[in-house]
Amino acid sequence: MDDLKLYGRNEKEINSLVHTVRVFISDIGMDFGIEKCATMVMKRGKLDKSEGIRLPDGRIIRGIGDDVEGYKYLGVLEADDITHDEVKRSMKKEYIRRVKKTLSSKLNAGNVIKAINSWAVSLLRYSGGIVNWTKSELAELDRKTRKLLTIHGALHPRSNVSRLYLPRREGGRGLISVEDAINIEERNINVYVCQSQERLLKAAWKSKNVNEIETPKEYKEKMKRKRTEDWSGKQLHGQFKRETDDLSGVSWEWITTGELKKETEGLIFAAQDQALRTNAVKARIENQNVSSKYRMCGSHDETVGHILCSCPKLAQTEYKKRHDVVGRVIHWEVCKEYGVECSDKWYEHSPKSVEENEEVKLLGHFTIQTDREIHQRRPDIVIQKKKAKETIIVDIAVFGDSNILQKETEKCEKYQDLAREIQRLWKSRTKVVPVVVGALGSVSKKLAGHLEQLGIKKRTRTMQKSALLGSAHILRKVLEV
Ligand SMILES: [Zn+2]
Repeated sequence: MDDLKLYGRNEKEINSLVHTVRVFISDIGMDFGIEKCATMVMKRGKLDKSEGIRLPDGRIIRGIGDDVEGYKYLGVLEADDITHDEVKRSMKKEYIRRVKKTLSSKLNAGNVIKAINSWAVSLLRYSGGIVNWTKSELAELDRKTRKLLTIHGALHPRSNVSRLYLPRREGGRGLISVEDAINIEERNINVYVCQSQERLLKAAWKSKNVNEIETPKEYKEKMKRKRTEDWSGKQLHGQFKRETDDLSGVSWEWITTGELKKETEGLIFAAQDQALRTNAVKARIENQNVSSKYRMCGSHDETVGHILCSCPKLAQTEYKKRHDVVGRVIHWEVCKEYGVECSDKWYEHSPKSVEENEEVKLLGHFTIQTDREIHQRRPDIVIQKKKAKETIIVDIAVFGDSNILQKETEKCEKYQDLAREIQRLWKSRTKVVPVVVGALGSVSKKLAGHLEQLGIKKRTRTMQKSALLGSAHILRKVLEV
């Protein structure tokens, strides 16, 4: 218990109530916050002059009148009515202050959103159903929030807005809109009052003359449906989701953890939403007088897909670097799994072309000697388990998100000849395990299983993260964002 309102029929009754409360709270070691207390006298529905109440220790609970404008109950300034405008002004100001403060912190992307939800939005939440917010006031606050996110680099101005408010496990960013928070609270109160058996509440509900009410749950589901439709229905914004929908929700795992910086997360979302202003967008969508081609190669349209995955000019440099980082994570994990000496942190790990101990031999980017002529004989990693007489060929790809399943199959087939040859020469059961991650974070349902075959557990997110950081780096370099 914190805030308390006492109602009495007359001065005598209220004095007695105050006395009871005073005795009770001093028993439990509490005291009145006297400067926050106030008394109010109502006569025939009108505010009347009040002298206040004198406590036995001499302190006075002020009466509302000329110099005392009201009292605060649960943070809302009240008198004979709620001073709506005053409350709204101060709440808006405090809300914006908290959003700004959160955004200038060093929190990661996931925690920034969590902090805004629980520290800023919740401030407004309990005014829902009490303060008379209008729809446009709430929409304005949400707009301001998005603007602040943009100013602080966390949200691309052309990113999909609906997606910002969808849950992270479904590919959104998990922000709670102020309008939703207030609407949900109003519905909570409605449900409470409607179901109450208390005489006055029942009368109050009856006077509202409402037959049907929407529950908070119904409201939330309705909004989620609307936003998902809006996102996936948009031609450009929804393209990524439509193309990768069959990959299952695993692809959103990196979003659930929210470990990236807010700027990087914003950039990857913008790339997925096709919101980045590439030459192709400038020329074809904005009808600007520029070439749609990517200036590095001059032969292909500058689209996010081309920049991230299919430009021959970047293959040997940027793509290789990104690929090698993912390879390094896997090599390091395998070293740990089989007790091969390695550094404490994966990013300090530098794989050698041959690593060996009693149990295992690891070959990294090593050309395998074969009797027959085989073209594909330099896979990313080969794990030869000595005692188990088993060999695993690992090949890694960071690839266009919509073609991941196809790439997994392709990678398996590519090394079948080599697998057969190794099986024959080394007298060791041999299989091919592909590790494919989308340049924008998509992974197939099979990835976790594939990693487990290498002895790597629960590392999907690390794979995604290393591919995404590589892609973000490429986008920043090329588009200068
Ligand atoms: Zn190109």
